[in-house]
Amino acid sequence: MSKVVLITGASRGIGRATARLLGAQGWAVGVNYATNQAAARETVDEVERAGGRAVAIKGNVADEKSVIKMFDTVENALGKIDGFVNNAGIVAASMPLAEMDAARLKRMFDINVYGAYLCAREAARRMSTDRGGAGGSIVNVSSAASRLGSPNEYVDYAGSKGAVDTMTIGLAKELGPRGIRVNAVRPGLIETEIHASGGQPDRAARLGSQTPLGRPGHAKEVAEAIVWLLSDAASYVNGTLLDVSGGR
Ligand code: NAP
Repeated sequence: MSKVVLITGASRGIGRATARLLGAQGWAVGVNYATNQAAARETVDEVERAGGRAVAIKGNVADEKSVIKMFDTVENALGKIDGFVNNAGIVAASMPLAEMDAARLKRMFDINVYGAYLCAREAARRMSTDRGGAGGSIVNVSSAASRLGSPNEYVDYAGSKGAVDTMTIGLAKELGPRGIRVNAVRPGLIETEIHASGGQPDRAARLGSQTPLGRPGHAKEVAEAIVWLLSDAASYVNGTLLDVSGGR
């Protein structure tokens, strides 16, 4: 029987690339998205073309009812989850902290921190061996920003990813004895639409050329690391923050 994974924010970018790779390895994939139904459908099609099964699930990671429904829907459609990729995340326009309004800060931490914690909690409830689950693996998608700080761009985003790193360290210790490995990837400058959503569509290309490898990364290069961490090939890897940043 195929393994089942739920990926938040899988309609585009790193989430979609991860869904595609997991589909090619025979995983059944829950494809969560926030609003872009057409993009989520395309991800489902890509997973199916790659040989896997998939279902698209609309849901806001920052809303508890929505999160519970999202996990219920994937388990009803595909079976109990064996893996969870905590990927959904946002940036916002570049500016110093002094210029940020409260609504922006609240949204950033609602989605990137509260949402990530809510989703990890739900995954823990369903996979923990002490709650009748069969164990599994969680991969959190953090960012190199958590160690760089993102001055004058988005220190709020960087801090939100610092929380994801710390959650990863704590949960690895809390859930390891309960059959769940918890790790994170920390992507660097990756070519996705997230940069346009922050008002800088050329950001990855522009800054990527200044990194040790002289280019931005591709979503597939992050997906490869996520898929490995999720898999049994990483069976003794727990609590790791894996930089996928070309040495940045
Ligand atoms: P992206 O291309 O902008 O895609 C974002 C995805 O998240 C979309 O599927 C979007 O759904 C979904 N999403 C946004 N808000 C959501 C919410 N409240 N609830 C559920 N889903 C939501 O982003 P990406 O570049 O692939 O980024 C994925 C992750 O990698 C994020 O956590 C990001 O912080 C991290 N990361 C990215 C980079 C980079 O350079 N790209 C670097 C470091 C870390 P819709 O399509 O419905 O809008």
